[in-house]
Amino acid sequence: MQNAAILTVDDDPSVSRAVARDVRRRYGDRYRVIRAESGPSALDALNEIKLRGEQVAVILADYRMPQMNGIEFLEAAMDVFPLARRVLLTAYADTDAAISAINIVDLDHYLLKPWNPPEEKLYPVLDALLEAWLATPAVTMPETKVVGHRWSAHSFTVRDFLARNLVPYRWLRADEAEGVRLLTAAGMSEADVPVVITTDGKALARPTEADLAAHVGMATTPASDLYDLAVIGAGPAGLGAAVYGASEGLRTLLVEQRATGGQAGQSSRIENYLGFPDGVSGAQLTDRARRQALKFNTELLTTREVVGLERSGSATLLHFGDGSAVTAHTVVLATGVSYRLLDAPGLADLTGRGVFYGAAATEAPSCSGEEVYIVGGANSAGQAAVYFSRYARKVHILIRGEDLTRSMSQYLIDQIEAIPSIEVHPRTEVVGGEGRDHLERLILCDGRTGLTTAVPTSWLFVFIGAEPRTDWLGDVVARDGAGYVLTGSDLLADGRRPAGWTPSRDPYHLESSMPGVFAAGDVRAGSVKRVASAVGEGAMAVSLVHRYLEAR
Ligand SMILES: Cc1cc2nc3c(=O)[nH]c(=O)nc-3n(C[C@H](O)[C@H](O)[C@H](O)COP(=O)(O)OP(=O)(O)OC[C@H]3O[C@@H](n4cnc5c(N)ncnc54)[C@H](O)[C@@H]3O)c2cc1C
Repeated sequence: MQNAAILTVDDDPSVSRAVARDVRRRYGDRYRVIRAESGPSALDALNEIKLRGEQVAVILADYRMPQMNGIEFLEAAMDVFPLARRVLLTAYADTDAAISAINIVDLDHYLLKPWNPPEEKLYPVLDALLEAWLATPAVTMPETKVVGHRWSAHSFTVRDFLARNLVPYRWLRADEAEGVRLLTAAGMSEADVPVVITTDGKALARPTEADLAAHVGMATTPASDLYDLAVIGAGPAGLGAAVYGASEGLRTLLVEQRATGGQAGQSSRIENYLGFPDGVSGAQLTDRARRQALKFNTELLTTREVVGLERSGSATLLHFGDGSAVTAHTVVLATGVSYRLLDAPGLADLTGRGVFYGAAATEAPSCSGEEVYIVGGANSAGQAAVYFSRYARKVHILIRGEDLTRSMSQYLIDQIEAIPSIEVHPRTEVVGGEGRDHLERLILCDGRTGLTTAVPTSWLFVFIGAEPRTDWLGDVVARDGAGYVLTGSDLLADGRRPAGWTPSRDPYHLESSMPGVFAAGDVRAGSVKRVASAVGEGAMAVSLVHRYLEAR
């Protein structure tokens, strides 16, 4: 890529020269290879590149350097070029430090010195990192701009959609000079906002999510009409199924109605997922999982909702919302759950204009210095409280119960107790919301006294549990009373197989009442509502898919 750089930094001049020489030999015709001999001088070089408006694709940093070690340098480098891929060069004795760097600086790779022969140890790593870097939307499309109103639900939806799909964008208010200038340049006015200006200069007035997806480079139409495996929903379970399915040679289609990552993508910090001792943000985990699925040739469709399943011979027809359909030999239902809405007068009209469901991380910087209210006592509410406390003057957690102990993990309770700006209000409910163009005050009710009070605030984030949105499945697969998909032995009432079941065997463990259609993750009746179990079930569903295909 013209003008993009690969930067290497090592304090040992001979090693520094050797790395740069090997990198230049293979990539010198396509990338500028820049060499530095200390962290501070490498940072100067990065800042200079930034000022020139150029890109950095990969940074290779030695771990043991005086002044600033490799991890400290990469952490600072992330602020300048967050999308550059990061590699730490280490001696064998430093592998522990390298492993901890995976979390601290979201390291892409650590490379043991010496890396000879580079054809085996260095180039395959750099090839993969450069390929991933080039596939990052922000690299090929430097800047998408969104012009809108601060308190517009549609403007929020657009920003939330772009953020959750990891599309970098610049947000400009329609009443600030730069916003006005852009609207004028696009021949539009405030009446057209939200306006999205894509990197190729197209201006989209009030775009739908499907318009946005198509214009920021996401696939929305299937390339084929027949797949071995169709996975519905790209949360952790769906991504897990897609990675295992595609890597094991199945032609795999992954269909997502909104944004990859599902609920996990909204988590500010997942602390209990195996392999991430320092936690990982939902966005990081999603980015990695999505890249992994795409690497194995999963076909990912975004903004496509599956609205029906139908048996078609030995395969299954998936119907989309626009009337089109694809066929798949097997299906994994990984549609998870969605937030339950808070039912109190005034709130519905203010949704997206001060009332938000889920963490709505895009809004956090706007809460700076303000009072934020969070409803809910489970881990998702706790994580959000910790996250918003970095911005807000005060975060109030409203819960119906006496305390958090029954609903929240102890590690989060401990974190909350240690943050003075978070206050927990037991036995308190929101009974109303008021405001003209956005939320201005909440009406709270004290469950002990029944007294109501009005509190001024523009921010309410709701986490009151979730339910499966499986109505679209109708009677095609058996569901429990709450709508969760029944699988395996749960389908055998008194030892009898489900109505209409044709195979001469019982349903496999994650198989639904429709043979060849499996369920994984939160949507499955009896599942553990966790990222790890969703990923595990996604992987397990694929092994059952193989068993199903072999036995047909
Ligand atoms: C804020 C928050 C924080 C959390 N923190 C943690 C944590 O720290 N640790 C932990 O273990 N768990 C955590 N969880 C729970 C965890 O995220 C879920 O258990 C996990 O995401 C479930 O994965 P899933 O793939 O089954 O479903 P989901 O993540 O719900 O994903 C389902 C996907 O399917 C899509 N979809 C739904 N219907 C359709 C359709 N008809 N067509 C196409 N696509 C469809 C949805 O848009 C969604 O993207 C958290 C949850 C939240 C909300």
